[in-house]
Parts: sequence; structure tokens; C-alpha cells
Amino acid sequence: MLELRPSCEHCNKALPPETTEAMICTYECTFCKDCVEQILNNVCPNCGGGFCQRPNRPKNNWRNNNYLGNHPASTIIKHRPLDVERHRDFAKAIESIPPNKR
Ligand SMILES: [Zn+2]
Ligand SMILES: [Zn+2]
Repeated sequence: MLELRPSCEHCNKALPPETTEAMICTYECTFCKDCVEQILNNVCPNCGGGFCQRPNRPKNNWRNNNYLGNHPASTIIKHRPLDVERHRDFAKAIESIPPNKR
């Protein structure tokens, strides 16, 4: 099940389950939209992959207890700010390749 992490790994901005600003890579590395667009250039610093918007888990129990009340968001903060210069070097060779071709 997707881990709904509570904040941006770089800037620690709060990313509650209902936000539309959380972005994830396939490994669930989680950053805010601003960091993905302005600092990461859509290159995950941990895997080199691209990001998509994190879906919102329903807060209502529409079906079979598949909702936030039964599967709450994670409360474990992963705050590992990047060395921005080092990321620029890392991302330089990757950012021009579409995420599905990396
Ligand atoms: Zn951020
Ligand atoms: Zn990643």
C-alpha cells in the first residue's frame, strides 16, 4: 500500500493526505510540487526517476473500509535536505530524458 508520507523530504513542508501538492516517485520518495519543479527538475535524487502527483486516499468509507480512517497516513517524517549543487550535477545528464525512457 502506498505510504502517504507527512512532509516534503527536502523542505519539510507539510503534505497531508488531502493535499494536491505532494509528488512521488515509484519508490514513494515524496516531495512538494515546488521542490520537484524548481529544485529537482523532475529528477528524483534517490533513484533518478520522475514524479507524478500523489493520489488522495478517500477520507470517506465508500467501500470495504478502504479509506484513511482504516489506513491512515504515515507520521514518520523523512527529512533529508539535498545538497542542491550536487543534485544539479546529478540531474544534468538525466533531466532531458523523458521519465519513461530513463
Ligand atoms: Zn519541498
Ligand atoms: Zn525515487
